[in-house]
Amino acid sequence: MSLIDLIALSADELAALVRAWGWPRYRARQILRWLYQARITDIAAMTDLSHSDRARLAAQSRIGSLSPSEVLTSEDSTRKFVFPLEDDKHIESVLIPDTSFRSTDRLTLCLSTQVGCTLDCTFCLTGQMGLQRNLRAHEIVGQVLAAQRLLPKDRPITNLVLMGMGEPLANASAVEEAIRRLTNQTWGVGFSPRRITLSTAGLSPRLTQVARMGVNLAVSLNATTNEQRNRLMPAVNKVYPLETLLAACRAFPLKPHRRLTFEYVLLADVNDTEQDAARLVKLLRGLRCKINLIPFNEFPGNPHRRPSDERVLRFQAVLTRHGLEAYIRKSKGRDILGACGQLGTVPDAPVLVPPPGSGSPHPIPILQSHA
Ligand code: SAH
Repeated sequence: MSLIDLIALSADELAALVRAWGWPRYRARQILRWLYQARITDIAAMTDLSHSDRARLAAQSRIGSLSPSEVLTSEDSTRKFVFPLEDDKHIESVLIPDTSFRSTDRLTLCLSTQVGCTLDCTFCLTGQMGLQRNLRAHEIVGQVLAAQRLLPKDRPITNLVLMGMGEPLANASAVEEAIRRLTNQTWGVGFSPRRITLSTAGLSPRLTQVARMGVNLAVSLNATTNEQRNRLMPAVNKVYPLETLLAACRAFPLKPHRRLTFEYVLLADVNDTEQDAARLVKLLRGLRCKINLIPFNEFPGNPHRRPSDERVLRFQAVLTRHGLEAYIRKSKGRDILGACGQLGTVPDAPVLVPPPGSGSPHPIPILQSHA
């Protein structure tokens, strides 16, 4: 008989199991707390269960966990974890310390939601892998538990961004279940939904699900005309063109004091002119939002180029002049291929990590890193 993986169960499934075993109801909550709050991986450590109950539990179940096969540390101290899954596929998560003037203790974990990606954005390495499979809820939560286990006790992960490998809204039910476990205050990991940001390439009808999850929404816009966006993000834009996407954004039920984030990857000579910036201003008129400009992170085999710093600043200046709040995203972890768009491996195109020093820190003034 194969053992039941406790971490793969939802709270309701665990409650049903506890009932079937004839245990009192509160036993389910005890177990959940061990899994998500104490983050144990050994049933023997559940010290508020009697020895005989622990033995019974261990005879029928186990606690699956992720553990990195590789940890790469960047010059800027960003860390990329490579996690093998039980079917030997791999995902990556990136831990980003933020020492900017605003927050000295912010520690953001960037999570993957799929192995590979449903979409085919031409500037993204993950998109070029194709979709291998969706992650299950516990594989999404597992990245948080594993990363936190590797950190000192007094160094909590403070923010989560669903911006790693994959399109979260192409795997929305697993993502929603993962968010439930990550935000539950009674037995779950206990994150405030305000500290979680989900980034989508624009699966417009599913934005309502993000509202239901209560997390922040970031939308990867990346282009200002359908023609341009069809070229850069064909799979998503041909189904949900800009008008549809922006209408869904305008209909998004923003809570007080919250706003949308729009991400815009700047690609040299593709979408980085002042005309692009002026069109962006028009598209976003009236939306409560901020814009994160992400200068393209290059990776081997991709023809796109990162624009010059001057070009990036000029783009930002147009937005600012029109009253938009625009930040230049400092791309951390570029030297370990841990920055936006650099996660994953494409078969037949081995990705080489550039030599130390080549991923020099971005010299332009940086206001904000993640989310
Ligand atoms: N599928 C989701 C989340 C993953 S991509 C989405 O599209 O939002 C996370 C962010 O990285 C997106 O804003 C995407 O546009 C950006 N990105 C992808 N490839 C990039 C690259 N090579 N350089 C810079 N940003 C990139």
